[in-house]
Amino acid sequence: MESRSAKNSLICRFYLSDKMKISIDPKAGFCTGVTRVIRLAEEALANTGHLYCLGQVVHNEQEENRLKNLGLEIIDLNGFCELQNVTVLIRAHGEPPETYETAAKNNIRLIDGTCPIVVKLQKKIRKSFSESEKNGGQIVIFGKKNHPEVLGLSGQTGNRAIIIEDENDLAKIDFSKPVSLFAQTTRSKAVFKVFFEKIGQNFQQQATSSTLPFEATDSTCRQVTGRDEHLRKFAAENDIIIFVAGKESSNGRYLFEIVKTENGNAFYVDDPKNIEESWFKGAQKIGITGATSTPVWLLEEVASQIEKMLLKS
Ligand code: SF4
Repeated sequence: MESRSAKNSLICRFYLSDKMKISIDPKAGFCTGVTRVIRLAEEALANTGHLYCLGQVVHNEQEENRLKNLGLEIIDLNGFCELQNVTVLIRAHGEPPETYETAAKNNIRLIDGTCPIVVKLQKKIRKSFSESEKNGGQIVIFGKKNHPEVLGLSGQTGNRAIIIEDENDLAKIDFSKPVSLFAQTTRSKAVFKVFFEKIGQNFQQQATSSTLPFEATDSTCRQVTGRDEHLRKFAAENDIIIFVAGKESSNGRYLFEIVKTENGNAFYVDDPKNIEESWFKGAQKIGITGATSTPVWLLEEVASQIEKMLLKS
């Protein structure tokens, strides 16, 4: 068993018995953005024993509890605004500019764990927004309303971006004006494409606006969407899939949908205590995987737990 740390080696371990084989998805584990922010937290905690973090550091309760035990204290925005002369960690999702302004005003030192991919996207949106102010254009973000990353992205436009979550939201776009479309990094690439096409069709249907600029940036993260093909294969070659991810994990929901299309016998587990023995009836090949916010140590614990449960029965 690996020690519980940010270590995120891509391992595939098999637990064998005469009845079954349990495999951990070798491509499961943290993405680089989450690995980085957890490393930053661990380094700071090793020095000081205490660190504030603005919002949930990772959408995984077990990993968050591990960091809390090392001294991490999660605070919300109200709590952040009341602090002065302390150090605060910014999580991988990033923050809107106001957070940096508050930090400067209150002498808060920030350890900026914003994922470099998100930083790049924020910059792109900021640039597009400043151009759109000249031509009356609109910034449209395909993402989950109120998701922290989306709040950080929309913040680059003074919260004037149009957030589209479903088809009804398309009505918020004025098709007589230019559009620059972006995506929350953990959204589905395929659904982004659908929205891209729908917006394009709307422009075409309006003859007066058919020559207006419509730019789209597929900013979905390859570390999520790039797992699709492998995940399909992993799901198909096992009799049952245990998908471990936090309730709030956006990429967890997205990746689980992919697993479900290949293997109807797949279970989304946010707390390993909820795993039921009856799920494994008749299964010989058990696959364990998770979101980009699920630590490898947790997948290993789940594998051991299932092994013990089934060997006892
Ligand atoms: S999913 Fe991609 S963009 Fe989001 S934190 Fe991970 S690496 Fe960064």
